[in-house]
Amino acid sequence: MSSLRFKVVDEAFNRKADPVEIPSERPEKYYGKYVFNRQKMFEYLPASTYQALINAIDNKEPLPRDVADSVAEGMKRWAIDNGARHYTHWFQPLTETTAEKHDGFIEHDGKGGVVEKFNGKLLVQQEPDASSFPNGGIRNTFEARGYSAWDISSPAFIMDNTLCIPTIFISYTGESLDYKTPLLRALNSVDRAATAVAQFFDPEVKHVKSYLGWEQEYFLVDEALYSARPDLMLTGRTLMGHESAKNQQLEDHYFGAIPSRVESFMLDLEIECHKLGIPAKTRHNEVAPNQFELAPIFEETNLANDHNLLLMSLITEVARRHHFRVLLHEKPFAGINGSGKHNNWSLGTDRGDILFSPGKTPKENLRFITFVVNVMAAVHRHNALLKASIASATNAHRLGANEAPPAIISIFTGSQLAEILDKIANSTNDELSDLSTKEGLRLNVSQIPEIMLDNTDRNRTSPFAFTGNRFEFRAVGSSANCASAMIALNAAAAEQLIMFKNKIDSRLAAGEALRHALLEEIRAMIKSSAPIHFDGNGYSDKWKAEAAARGLDCETSVPAIFDAYLRPESINMFTATGVMTPVELAARNEVKWEMYTKKVQIEARVLGDLALNHILPVAIRYQSILLDNVSKIRDLYGHDKAAEMSEAERTTIEAIAGHTRIIKSEVEKMVDARREANRIESEREKAIAYHDTVVPSMDTIRYHIDKLELMVDNEMWPLPKYRELLFIR
Ligand code: ADP
Ligand code: MG
Repeated sequence: MSSLRFKVVDEAFNRKADPVEIPSERPEKYYGKYVFNRQKMFEYLPASTYQALINAIDNKEPLPRDVADSVAEGMKRWAIDNGARHYTHWFQPLTETTAEKHDGFIEHDGKGGVVEKFNGKLLVQQEPDASSFPNGGIRNTFEARGYSAWDISSPAFIMDNTLCIPTIFISYTGESLDYKTPLLRALNSVDRAATAVAQFFDPEVKHVKSYLGWEQEYFLVDEALYSARPDLMLTGRTLMGHESAKNQQLEDHYFGAIPSRVESFMLDLEIECHKLGIPAKTRHNEVAPNQFELAPIFEETNLANDHNLLLMSLITEVARRHHFRVLLHEKPFAGINGSGKHNNWSLGTDRGDILFSPGKTPKENLRFITFVVNVMAAVHRHNALLKASIASATNAHRLGANEAPPAIISIFTGSQLAEILDKIANSTNDELSDLSTKEGLRLNVSQIPEIMLDNTDRNRTSPFAFTGNRFEFRAVGSSANCASAMIALNAAAAEQLIMFKNKIDSRLAAGEALRHALLEEIRAMIKSSAPIHFDGNGYSDKWKAEAAARGLDCETSVPAIFDAYLRPESINMFTATGVMTPVELAARNEVKWEMYTKKVQIEARVLGDLALNHILPVAIRYQSILLDNVSKIRDLYGHDKAAEMSEAERTTIEAIAGHTRIIKSEVEKMVDARREANRIESEREKAIAYHDTVVPSMDTIRYHIDKLELMVDNEMWPLPKYRELLFIR
């Protein structure tokens, strides 16, 4: 009898909502309370320091050392006023989480006491002993120095009484060891490239910013249930569990009433977000039971990404306060929806225009078309790379699993935009020579704003969708660092815009009129990137066949998907845009393969353990109860009568024997496959071996365990079942 399971289920189901301390003030009063934003800078820094810091931030210039000392002093005063005792450089190693090493402000005062100190050197640059972060062989462990350096474009903040300073993390030899460094380079590159193109339409444009609005999906599980599932605790997902009879069929969870326990948690989380300057705005139930979403107002990509990482720490912490565990894994439960992190992405000028937004004039609309079509061309050229940028061992369970975008990148435009692109592609230059004439109107180009407002035919099956004034990259996984996708996307867009600008320039040099040149190039791009455009059902098998025929990347094995980073066109793109060197790319892929292997390895170990130590003993115990019963019936009624009377038991006994035998032998096979794979030297080959030989065994083991779950006495089953895990009351 599994008393633990019933105890935790009882505990979870009887738990009441926790009270939330609601501030008496409105959000605008406490918003950014723990952020050293411009207002705090103004308050705590001498006027000249403030000015120098703002200049450096706005013009992306390094901070002079004497200014840094003065900034550090003011920042320390502010931090201490707000209860901070420690400071840390907060950086993003290639592990998908953030890293921090805390130091106290205290120093000896020379008189046996201490003073709290902080200076520019400590603020601007540190040398964390970073030998144990993944680096793909760039740094040998004996030469373990890495530098972290303040990213002044992202403000410092206080979390858990610690002053956190967002930093980049690079090796002694200058290679990036994190996500932030290449992200900043990609953003610079797209700024330059897009500004040059935007100037064709508005010479006053000085900068183009990249914007990101992420939507974070997650699951909540009661902490008592969580603690009774070793697989959830150790791998973030359930490695076994038969589908609940009721899950999401009734579609009654999406946008449904939020349970009161969850509502308290969400309110608490929102307040904490606002204090940390994360503009959390939207919260709702998602499609699957126990699945929810939080989305902020979009921000500049670098800041938005820092905020998403901060949110992932914060949500974990706040969930604990409410006796929940948050699951950020892409697929915590088989058979129901997984979690993604839609990346809403756009480019906008320093003049306030969003470049993927149709405008009011024909000129603005030509600009709109120019940028949208360039994005389509970039996504087409780098569709394999973009898929690699979101691929991971965990996201692999979600993509292509019939309720998430397939493992093929395509763009959804919606019928109105599709029609406009079609018309442009099939028109002659004369027809399009002046978009403000009747001809232009006939082509609908000047009428775009009106139609776009009615952008209702959202296609949930597309991994990359145009949604009115932005693109939504939906294939990103819920546990991922968005930077990976944002680096690839912004860099690819930058490369494309640079090439486009060059082509236009040569046409202009040959005496063509600008409008003519633009339309010629746009038309060519619409035609050449046509294969990426797909508005149909991305879940269908027909699409998989068609996508392959169109030449889109259809690889589904994650270790092989990573190869896209090392294709010549990717290396050229990253090099030309200055985002990553070939050495960095190679090193990062080593890390990706290694991470893949480790994740599968851990899962395989946990599954093997659970199968042998939790499931088989219980199944066998139940089987022997049945056997006992059968033999007692025989003793009492004799052989012939018993054969009939105990038929049901005997069928179950044999079925259990069948499943336990396969589980046992498959676990052995899996262990052998692991041993074999571990001997492989190359990280790539090892990851491929794990994918090809270990993962299939895991699937088989799970299948048979789930069958046993349906047979074994409910009272004896040791692990909380899906129906218990998935319905918060
Ligand atoms: P939906 O669920 O319909 O996709 P949400 O409101 O959940 O929409 O999320 C939309 C996200 O897109 C929000 O974070 C929003 O701030 C963001 N967003 C809106 N406009 C832009 C834009 N131009 N660029 C980037 N993000 C945007
Ligand atoms: Mg969305």
